Amino acid sequence: MNEKLQAVRGMNDILPEDAARWEYLEDVLRNWLRSYGYRNVRTPLVEHTRLFHRAIGGATDIVEKEMYSFEDSLNGEHLSLRPESTAPTVRMAIEHNLLHSGGQRLYYFGPMFRHERPQKGRYRQFHQVGVEALGYPGPDVDAELLLMCHRLWGMLGLTGIRLELNCLGSPMERAAHRTALVEYFNSRKNLLDEDSTRRLSLNPLRILDSKNPDLQALIEDAPRLTDYLGTDSLSHFNELQEILSDAGIEFRVNSRLVRGLDYYNLTVFEWVTDKLGAQGTVCGGGRYDGLFEQLGGKSTPACGWAMGMERLLSLVEAEGHGLGSAVPAVYLVSQGEFARRYAFKVSGVLRACGVSVIQHCGGGSFKSQMKKADGSGARLAVIIGDNEALRDEVTIKDLRTGGDQLRLRLDVTGQAVMMKLHQ
Ligand code: ATP
Ligand code: MG
Repeated sequence: MNEKLQAVRGMNDILPEDAARWEYLEDVLRNWLRSYGYRNVRTPLVEHTRLFHRAIGGATDIVEKEMYSFEDSLNGEHLSLRPESTAPTVRMAIEHNLLHSGGQRLYYFGPMFRHERPQKGRYRQFHQVGVEALGYPGPDVDAELLLMCHRLWGMLGLTGIRLELNCLGSPMERAAHRTALVEYFNSRKNLLDEDSTRRLSLNPLRILDSKNPDLQALIEDAPRLTDYLGTDSLSHFNELQEILSDAGIEFRVNSRLVRGLDYYNLTVFEWVTDKLGAQGTVCGGGRYDGLFEQLGGKSTPACGWAMGMERLLSLVEAEGHGLGSAVPAVYLVSQGEFARRYAFKVSGVLRACGVSVIQHCGGGSFKSQMKKADGSGARLAVIIGDNEALRDEVTIKDLRTGGDQLRLRLDVTGQAVMMKLHQ
């Protein structure tokens, strides 16, 4: 009866102190994305399950075991909480003919849902920021996607995030490689584990992604996709590497990098770090030129990446330049009937000057208000008594460094507060 109510396992509340850090990071990210010409889009949290089956692939971990799927009890539709946003974004672009006048650079923020085992850096509701560059064949735009990430690490003061890169080639090249892989693993079936045996017929490429240590030697010797790439794929990959090298960005070509979703071709990449324990991938993405057609649209080249916000935030907290705080600059104290009404004018003036203000509510003695001001963490108290209010003046007190109080005319207060804050 009286069972304690709690959030669903793996789904987190974000409390005010943390939410302030999220907002700060989101602001930085938004400005950074806009500076490359990416524009925001928002798709629903719920989509038809078949969208993800068709886009991500039925034999992937996400679709096979991580999706929150359910039947709408009112009309029987098969729906899923979105596990990622590339498929919804492409669905949206097709549905609204978004590319009628050319390429689109888009970004999104938001919660994604995957039924995984919760642990640090891995949740059932987690958040991504992602970009999709739709309608560009690359490799210039592939490079842009990576250069922008590299710049972000610098902006946030993050070090030690390495770039791993691979080229998955064309569907034909992958098919030839796949045939060779199946032959290879088929003739060594006795060495495979249960999961890989199942994947052998469903999606043999995913065996290469296995984390089972017993399989690593076998995987190491398996036929490499690189040996099946044709000239177009190779020159796409080479050009991308040239642009990265010109920009001084270090990377490692990892021929084992296949990524957990089926829709990729040519470029795939991950940004990884050792500073997050087992959950070391901060950002992953690549090119998915076949996805538009797969979802019933016109053939359209496209690529993108998605970044885990929780993992990025952990990194920024551990070694970044410092994050924003929810603490306002000013706590506004008023004593006396006239002063209390005048306080609304003062807070309005301060906010118009760009100063964040908590206006004391609930009355109480001057002493108890000053105690609240102290406890709020605000840098300054702006104090109004009837005396000040009648003269259009306020008193400013620095709550952190102490020192003399300052009495000022209201019309110069905003400026004075700003100067104090930046001292
Ligand atoms: P992983 O190998 O860690 O499971 P993934 O390849 O499944 O990652 P993507 O689908 O490429 O991840 O998603 C892009 C990014 O989103 C990841 O690099 C990671 O930062 C973040 N991410 C993915 N799944 C989760 C999760 N369950 N909880 C928190 N962040 C996640
Ligand atoms: Mg995963």
